[in-house]
Amino acid sequence: MKKHNFYAGPSILSEYAINNTAEAVKEFAGTGLSILEISHRSKEFSAVIEEAANMVKELLEVPEGYHVLFLGGGASLQFCMVPYNLLKTKAAYLDTGTWANKAIKEARLFGEVDVVASSKDANYTFIPKDYTIPADADYFHITTNNTIYGTEIRKELDSPIPMVADMSSDIFSRPVDVSKYDIIYGGAQKNLAPAGVTLVIAKESAMGHVDRAIPTMLDYRTHISKGSMFNTPPVLPIYTALQTLKWYKEMGGVKKLEELDKAKAAALYEAIDGSKMFVGTAVPEDRSIMNVCFVMKPEYKELEKDFIDFASTKGIVGIKGHRSVGGFRASLYNAMPMSSVQVLIDAMKEFENNH
Ligand SMILES: *Cc1c(COP(=O)(O)O)cnc(C)c1O
Repeated sequence: MKKHNFYAGPSILSEYAINNTAEAVKEFAGTGLSILEISHRSKEFSAVIEEAANMVKELLEVPEGYHVLFLGGGASLQFCMVPYNLLKTKAAYLDTGTWANKAIKEARLFGEVDVVASSKDANYTFIPKDYTIPADADYFHITTNNTIYGTEIRKELDSPIPMVADMSSDIFSRPVDVSKYDIIYGGAQKNLAPAGVTLVIAKESAMGHVDRAIPTMLDYRTHISKGSMFNTPPVLPIYTALQTLKWYKEMGGVKKLEELDKAKAAALYEAIDGSKMFVGTAVPEDRSIMNVCFVMKPEYKELEKDFIDFASTKGIVGIKGHRSVGGFRASLYNAMPMSSVQVLIDAMKEFENNH
């Protein structure tokens, strides 16, 4: 049985991306070789990385002056690269979850960090809104989608200073005004590719203003000047990323994807809100359309494990919630079809009727 894959990351990819990657593993671009065994400097692979960067620019309407990079180290390395390259004296951060917290921890190694607001005391069930972004900070860092807690910032914030965003788990789920950001980054394993590559959109003019020496590999300028080819980039995940990007374009681009994502999330939230058994954990106005977090109401709490087992008999996998929230998390990334969301909704209803 084909499974309904709700894992939070690594996570579902389109059949198009997986099939084309499988083909290229066998034979890539008529070279008579597998993509696993060709030079990253071959003209065939150069064409792949160039096309992938161009497709990111096209899909997100990236303005002039920005570079699209494909780096190693995951989003977690960006937690350190961002302040290394951009933090002169002080940076502002919004604390909306575990990943935001990790970014804050790294930034503190490089200078003063002003955490403008935090929803930690409420177990990150909402996105703080009442705060002032210090105009004298070098940048304002946000995490647009909080993968673990199921909250999301979907509207472009109003910031007096350039922003930096960790968009690991919701990039390509909406149009973005890239011009408001110095850096946008994301680990690929949620909405783009298998693990191993990090997408970075970097504003060239934001670089070169710090006094500290930056190790070559951690300096964005190295990768900007070499088109992500200073060292061997993660060839295979970049190939898959290109397939995903092509599929996104075929699907109608990020506006269309947002429409589909919203419809999927709305259907699932409606089922949760209409249930006597399940309840959402995030406040409704900040609910993520990528990661839907819910638990069982106290009177049904002991049935949580049973529901996961029941769901698995329907081919549903990956719905166990993160340990810091408990219950369930259904990740509805771009490649997730509505039909799988409907299978989950039906399973919830059937389980509820049985109890
Ligand atoms: C998964 C995730 C990360 C961590 O990404 P790695 O590539 O594993 O370092 C960081 N931020 C967010 C929002 C995530 O969802």
